[in-house]
Amino acid sequence: MHSLFDRWIRLDVRGLVTKIGPDVAHWLGQPPVLQDDASAESPGQAAGLPLERWLAPASAVLWSTVQWRSLCAQGRLDEAILHFTAPVDSRGDIHVVSHWRAAPGDDGSGYIGLLTEGGRRQQLLDDLRQARDSLQQMPGAVLQLLQAPGAELSFPYASGQLLALLGVTPMQAAQSAHRLLAALTPSSCTALLDALAQAEQGRARRWQVVLTAQRRPDARVELVAQRAKTTGLWHGVLTDVTQREALQRELLRRAETDALTRLPNRVALMGHVRQRLADGQPFALMFMDCDRFKQVNDSLGHDVGDELLRHLAQRLRHCLRPADSVMAVAFDDDSPAEPLAARLGGDEFVVVADGVTEPAQLATLADRLVTSLARPYRLQGMDLVASVSLGVVLADADSTAERLLRDADTAMYEAKRRGRGGWVLFEPVMQARVAAALLLEADLRQALPAGQLRPVFQPIVDIATGRITGMEVLTRWGHPQRGEVSPAEFIPVAEDCGLISALGETMLRLACQQFQAWRTQGLAVPPRISVNLSRAQLSRAELVSRIRLILGETGLPGSALQLEITESLAMADESVLGVLLALRELGIQLAIDDFGTGHSSLSTLQRFPVQQVKMDLSFVRDIESSPYHRAVVQAVVQVAEALALEVVAEGVETPGQASLLQRLGCRHAQGWLYSRALEADAVPAYLCLPAAEHVR
Ligand code: C2E
Ligand code: CA
Ligand code: CA
Repeated sequence: MHSLFDRWIRLDVRGLVTKIGPDVAHWLGQPPVLQDDASAESPGQAAGLPLERWLAPASAVLWSTVQWRSLCAQGRLDEAILHFTAPVDSRGDIHVVSHWRAAPGDDGSGYIGLLTEGGRRQQLLDDLRQARDSLQQMPGAVLQLLQAPGAELSFPYASGQLLALLGVTPMQAAQSAHRLLAALTPSSCTALLDALAQAEQGRARRWQVVLTAQRRPDARVELVAQRAKTTGLWHGVLTDVTQREALQRELLRRAETDALTRLPNRVALMGHVRQRLADGQPFALMFMDCDRFKQVNDSLGHDVGDELLRHLAQRLRHCLRPADSVMAVAFDDDSPAEPLAARLGGDEFVVVADGVTEPAQLATLADRLVTSLARPYRLQGMDLVASVSLGVVLADADSTAERLLRDADTAMYEAKRRGRGGWVLFEPVMQARVAAALLLEADLRQALPAGQLRPVFQPIVDIATGRITGMEVLTRWGHPQRGEVSPAEFIPVAEDCGLISALGETMLRLACQQFQAWRTQGLAVPPRISVNLSRAQLSRAELVSRIRLILGETGLPGSALQLEITESLAMADESVLGVLLALRELGIQLAIDDFGTGHSSLSTLQRFPVQQVKMDLSFVRDIESSPYHRAVVQAVVQVAEALALEVVAEGVETPGQASLLQRLGCRHAQGWLYSRALEADAVPAYLCLPAAEHVR
């Protein structure tokens, strides 16, 4: 293999050959003694002769008249073509391309020429052309990009297929790089330039970008560019990724969609929330949980449960639609995006409402969600009521997606605690409350078998005479460490963790036993004992049979028992109505507890088989100061009278309240004015007091 360094000729300032390299010697038919080694002082036969001596006639003329002169004048000469006359044994003239420079030679003057065989050059050109041809044949579009420092971006090469894709002719492409760029959509153009600039800056070896051509806005092409090691030229291959992207989108959509409701799932939600947080835009996150879903699932089956969830999702979507006039008020123009609704799993849904920062906006949206979702659902011929409880949290700069979700969940529990079907805005103290509730739950599980729960008895009296007309059983918990724990604290925990049924049954049995014992002892007991029944107990299928069993065990007749039920939307349910009727058949009397705090109106009173209405203590508390509360109490008393219902005012603390109630027509009262809840062993003495002394 000959090296480039073997093909050279040295000339002196007159153009006479002084030395030649071995290859050249070979071409010229010169013996190798002319080689340029340090000792070869004798230049041999070629030395001292003008270069033209070895050139073909035309080349010799060109040399002496143009090429040599140019070399002398400029001190350099490039791409000079020389035709050497062939030595006798070769097949023809030798075509050489030569480059000449002034040589700092031994004598400080002269020129050196580097020669490349013309045939080789032709070969290189042929190779190049062939490479270009095969590039053109390659499936896919090929592009070279060059961003020389300080120069404009150029595309030294663009394959025919690429040009066809872009709708640019080869001529146009050759004329300006702008023409190629302009064939892309503006955003693709920016993306391309950005990716290139970034790669150049970061000295990356490879970069890629997905582009769209103006003329095919529906197609997506991916350009993958790789830097040539030596030239800094980027070689790019473009592939149509339209289908691949569509497939990816479809897979992503499936991975992020809840199959049952077609809403985004937890994965999608978390991504969305993280993105919102990264954007730094204000938003509210609302966590909602269906209040009675478990009951629906347990009593009506999973099919109905699934259908309920689908209906719920549907209504949620409908109610978030921004086209709606109400939403248009709730969301200003800066945030026209539709709030996102997602299903977390089970009966839990989350709404992300962008741009919601004002309490008024929040209240509008939350009220709207709660009201609209609580309307009955028509499923398989039944009207089901399934209200939701909503916890709301506002994102701030420190929020994380996980914490927002946890806080909204906490607020949702608080909403449930405050009586379902409502919404609550998160406050940090709630977190502590949740933690405390968890501890309480663990303790409560122990409390029941350990006998730490006991019934106490609060008398209900006739306001006019002080005679005892009833007695309510309230549960007390003597906690081994904390002392007395209020039922206001542990009853909601028992309801949440499913302990309420066991707790309620135990208390009912203890109350019935005790009351029956007093009855058989011949004490002057009131006609019946009143026991609280939780909503959760009401929806248990076996409630009626369990109560019948307890009555049988203790010997207490059903007519000596009253059950207090909190008024709530759940009462509108047909299945609950069935349970109430079955209880009535056992002779049990029913009371609506906390009347006035829930959703029922006076007219609902007649729909249910109840005999007593217990007016919530909040009405009694404000009766002296608020004409409104006075009016409500009066209206309740009047309607109750018309329906032959007994009215009991709860929480009567002062003689003033008692006499005002009496004037408004309320005959029965319960409260500290008469007695606190009494321990069982204090009851007989209280019962024996003369009626007049029942008022403290
Ligand atoms: P409730 O059924 O409305 O019971 C009346 C509550 O008002 C009782 O609170 C009672 O002590 C309180 N109270 C009575 N008179 C007055 C008064 O003059 N002023 C004031 N400020 N309060 C008065 P308690 O015992 O703390 O019970 C709270 C709630 O816990 C009850 O409200 C009831 O909903 C629930 N609860 C208690 N025991 C049971 C039970 O055995 N089963 C069920 N399911 N719930 C129970
Ligand atoms: Ca009660
Ligand atoms: Ca009550």
